Amino acid sequence: MKIEILEKNDNNLRIVVRDADVALMNALRRIALAEVPTMAIEEVVMIDNSSILQDEIIAHRLGLTPLKTDLDAYNLPEACECKSEFGCTQCRVTLTLDAEAKEGTRTVYSGEIVSENPEIIPVSDKIPIVKLAKNQKLKLEAYARLGKGKTHAKWQPTSMCAYKYYPAITVPTEKCDECTKCVDICPKKVFAMKDEKVDVRDLLACNLCMDCVEACPKKPAPLKVEWEKNAFIMSIESTGALPPERILKEATKTLGTQLNEVEELLKAEPQ
Ligand SMILES: [Zn+2]
Repeated sequence: MKIEILEKNDNNLRIVVRDADVALMNALRRIALAEVPTMAIEEVVMIDNSSILQDEIIAHRLGLTPLKTDLDAYNLPEACECKSEFGCTQCRVTLTLDAEAKEGTRTVYSGEIVSENPEIIPVSDKIPIVKLAKNQKLKLEAYARLGKGKTHAKWQPTSMCAYKYYPAITVPTEKCDECTKCVDICPKKVFAMKDEKVDVRDLLACNLCMDCVEACPKKPAPLKVEWEKNAFIMSIESTGALPPERILKEATKTLGTQLNEVEELLKAEPQ
C-alpha cells in the first residue's frame, strides 16, 4: 500500500491511498468515526443556575463542547482499574464553571471553563454556552471521560471522515467545437479551456458526479470520467480533540486489535 499526503494541518488531513480496497477504506472510516476515543463531559453537577436555560440543556451543550484529548494519560472508564462509577484521576477530569453577570447581559463562553488538567480544555474558547441577564448566575462542576462515538456523537473525534475513488479523466484530444458545456457545468470547477481544448485543471476535486459527461451534446461523449479501482482519496477533519493523523493511527491500531480478536476466536473453535 502507498500513502501520499496531499494536505495536513492541525485539523485536516487529506491523503491518497493506493493499492487498497473499499472494505479496508470503509473499515478505517467507520472506526475513525465510532471507535477512536475522545474526552467529553459526561456528568454535570449544577450548583447554581438562574439563567433562562434549564440544567439539562446546559449539560447537553457542555457535553457537545469538544475537549482537547490526551489519549495516553487517561483510561476508558470500563478499562480503568478503579472500577468505580465515579471514576478516578486516571479516567476522569473535573472541570468547573463559575460565571455571573454583574454589570449587564453577557454571554458565557467555553473559555471560562476551568479544568483541573490544563491539557484537557475546550478546543476553542469562543463556544457560547449560555447568555446571562444581569444578576443571573451559573455555577457548576462537570466530569469529562473518555468515550466512543458509537455510544454518543459527542465522543466522535471527527467532524468529517470520508473517502472517494481516485478519479481518472480522459479529455478529448481533438479540438471541441464551440461548446464549453462540460467546463461550465462542473460544480467543482475541474476543467478549464486551454488553447480551445478542454483541459483538466484540478483532477482531485472531481467527485465523479458525471454532470460533464451528461452535458456533452455528442453521444457518446468524447470526455470520459472513470476512477481507479484501488486508489482512494481520504479526508479527515478533526473536531480539534485529536490531531487527524493520530485519529487515523488509532483507527488502524483498533482494526488490528479487532482482527487479532477474530483470529484468536477462530483458534478457540474446535477443529
Ligand atoms: Zn478510574
